[in-house]
Amino acid sequence: MFALRLALPILFALLAVPAHADSKVGSLRLYAFDCGRIVLDDLGAFADTGEYDGQAGELSAPCFLVRHPKGDLLWDAGLGDRFAATPGGTSFPNGSRAVVARTLQSQLEAIGLRASDVEYIAFSHFHWDHTGNANDFAGATWLLSRREVQSLDSQPAPGRMAVDNLSAYKQAKVELIDLDRDVFGDGSVRILRANGHTAGHQVLMLRLPKAGTVILSGDLFHTRENFEQGRMPAFNYSRGETLAAMDRVRRLLSNTRGRLVIQHDRRDIDALPKAPGYLE
Ligand SMILES: [Zn+2]
Repeated sequence: MFALRLALPILFALLAVPAHADSKVGSLRLYAFDCGRIVLDDLGAFADTGEYDGQAGELSAPCFLVRHPKGDLLWDAGLGDRFAATPGGTSFPNGSRAVVARTLQSQLEAIGLRASDVEYIAFSHFHWDHTGNANDFAGATWLLSRREVQSLDSQPAPGRMAVDNLSAYKQAKVELIDLDRDVFGDGSVRILRANGHTAGHQVLMLRLPKAGTVILSGDLFHTRENFEQGRMPAFNYSRGETLAAMDRVRRLLSNTRGRLVIQHDRRDIDALPKAPGYLE
């Protein structure tokens, strides 16, 4: 009895230790984290056909953690936890404001993970609002579009790319992607070429055991209306390549009866389970 009274607290203490690197999931899960939002005085640049001219608006900036039995993948890295130090948000001269209410680090901790536990990181593209926390994942394998890396390394790099956000890639283990990439080799997590917003833009296609096919849009579409009406930003790298990528994703959604998650449209993010909940 004495031994049991001694053993039980030890057992409970062991159970209470948060799961770390070696905690594996039994099946595929998608976690959506709040990695900030961008408040804009004028959304005009997000349709090159004039529909948003003069309209104020807001873009959500989520990060996604894909947990697979063979490892974890972070898809997009948000605005950056450093913005959380200014609770009212950080204003930029172009009439936009970056707001981060919760850090990515705290949201990973809430599910028992640290950045160093995440084995893979990949990005829809390298714009600043998708790469803010990237350097925290220096120990991961970086799965990068070759065309996107070529843009980043060009002089000067395209304006919306914050080169410093990605400085860790020079030392990290990098695997370059030319076409599509089946991350875990079983078809359940695929990075798909969807160029046009930037030279090497990509989307992420998941085949979840219960929810079925889910495509994370990156910035192929910024809003539901842009998806429905085929609108795109004035600052896209290529209008023609964007139209081709839109066509590909529409067909994939139709052939798989898939669900599209438009990352910058808050309505799509609010419709997902809130972490620590997840889609499976
Ligand atoms: Zn974006």
